[in-house]
Amino acid sequence: MSSFSDGNNSFWSSSVELPSFPAPEENFKTGVLIVGGGISGLMNAYQLSLDGHEVTVIEGNTLVSDTTANTTARIMAQQGLLYGQLSSLKGEASARLYYESQMEAIDEIENIIDRHAIDCDFKRVDGVIYAVYDNSHKDLEKEAGAYQKLGIEGRLSKNGLELPFETSAELVMKNQAEFHPLKFLRGIIEVLQSRGVKIFEHTRAETVDGDKLSTTEGLEINFGKLVIATHFPFLDIDGLYFNSFKISYGYGLVVTSSTPPPANLSLNGYDGASLSIRNIVNEENDLPTVLFGGLGHMSHETKDMAAQLDKLKLYADQKTNNEEILNAYRAQDLMTADSLPFIGLFDKNHENRFVATGFNKFGMANGVLSSMIISDLIEGKENRYEALLSPHRNKGTFRQLKQHLSNPVHIVGSEAKNMIVKLPDIEEAELESGQGMTVRDGASKKGLYREDDTYYIMDNRCTHMGCSLNWNQSDRTWDCPCHGSRFSRKGKVIEGPAVEDLDSETRHAEK
Ligand SMILES: Cc1cc2nc3c(=O)[nH]c(=O)nc-3n(C[C@H](O)[C@H](O)[C@H](O)COP(=O)(O)OP(=O)(O)OC[C@H]3O[C@@H](n4cnc5c(N)ncnc54)[C@H](O)[C@@H]3O)c2cc1C
Repeated sequence: MSSFSDGNNSFWSSSVELPSFPAPEENFKTGVLIVGGGISGLMNAYQLSLDGHEVTVIEGNTLVSDTTANTTARIMAQQGLLYGQLSSLKGEASARLYYESQMEAIDEIENIIDRHAIDCDFKRVDGVIYAVYDNSHKDLEKEAGAYQKLGIEGRLSKNGLELPFETSAELVMKNQAEFHPLKFLRGIIEVLQSRGVKIFEHTRAETVDGDKLSTTEGLEINFGKLVIATHFPFLDIDGLYFNSFKISYGYGLVVTSSTPPPANLSLNGYDGASLSIRNIVNEENDLPTVLFGGLGHMSHETKDMAAQLDKLKLYADQKTNNEEILNAYRAQDLMTADSLPFIGLFDKNHENRFVATGFNKFGMANGVLSSMIISDLIEGKENRYEALLSPHRNKGTFRQLKQHLSNPVHIVGSEAKNMIVKLPDIEEAELESGQGMTVRDGASKKGLYREDDTYYIMDNRCTHMGCSLNWNQSDRTWDCPCHGSRFSRKGKVIEGPAVEDLDSETRHAEK
């Protein structure tokens, strides 16, 4: 049995307690309504309240309990080998502009931390992309050439850094950063409270009609401006959002280690197991604490979470001498065809709706950048990054878009596979308490979960667009491979874009 069968457990959440907030009791009006309380939503609330707007944040669960709680929190303009690719696809001016946007966001994070004296372990580091295979050298060399052309401060070396494991090449980008995201956002929440920003938890947005948003609890909120910061947008227009993102899972492992990497470096692997590796400030342990992230794969590739974490542990142990495992988890982010985020006007027909999403696993700088761009748009100011990152831009070459569209194709494939897999009949399924599985009930597929002597039987179709759900035993959740919605073991929405719970019934003891 794997040691990772107990599900998500984030270092950030387990080391910081955030204040809690009530759900609203009646309909209300607000100047700006922000939907989603992760880094994007809270930073938009921060910036817009600074500009003097009346701001309300609504969050479907509790603040910072979703993707931002499970991030690696490397604050990086260095985002894989992006700049060579961007230079050839969008031109050098666009590639340089994107680099500047990320560096400006990192500076903005540092300024905010200084302004409010937020204690969040913020540290400037050098970003490093390391390769382990000799034949990867040429790829890093090409990217180093792009750095030089674009005036990006960095350098390529061959075994030039004192790392605790062997590498064949290292590409450094100067002046990147790391922090503890929940300590940072705890500080931001305090600022929001002091500025009178209203915050409501357990309040899930369901639909929008004109300037009125309805929640799943049936309340109505009238807004002047709307900022959709729900990670995967809960609204769509003509398939623009629902068809634009691939969902990429990633795994994280936090361990104590006697041979951590140097504290002034933040590492990301290019080949082999390609692990991200960073140090974490942790006063609870005598040994240094290190976070390993990696083993990313698309959501349509069904992989057992506990087995993936076992593999991550194996690879992590090959990099450093590790002792105790403190945390292990899986999370997901949205990938776009051209690797740039979607920040700006949500839909061309409504001048008062905005969105921040599609961060390609670089949501720390981009979440903050979204607040800089959206606040300018709301203030009627020009923002030099608007056109580059607009959700309505030309988003990639024909080939990129075609490859990107392969996600739904894979999902159709996995749906077909699901149809032919012989599922156990509901009457014969054997489950221990705490276990779940997909079963057949007559002609339909159902999700079955057992807790003590009660069986929870629920629809196996996602309430968003009807895809079959996969049972995730480690997290005890029902996960949708199509657009990333997730439901609790008993069928409640825990991650969008779905907004409705699964229909479910219970049966006692004998099913
Ligand atoms: C494994 C992994 C590692 C990563 N590492 C890094 C890294 O090192 N550096 C980096 O920059 N980025 C990293 N990222 C990416 C980054 O963590 C995310 O892009 C970022 O946290 C997204 O923030 P968000 O605020 O947009 O979304 P979230 O943090 O998911 O917040 C969205 C919020 O909206 C709420 N919500 C959803 N639907 C509704 C609704 N209908 N009504 C009300 N509320 C709703 C959710 O409950 C949630 O709290 C990583 C991502 C993953 C998966």
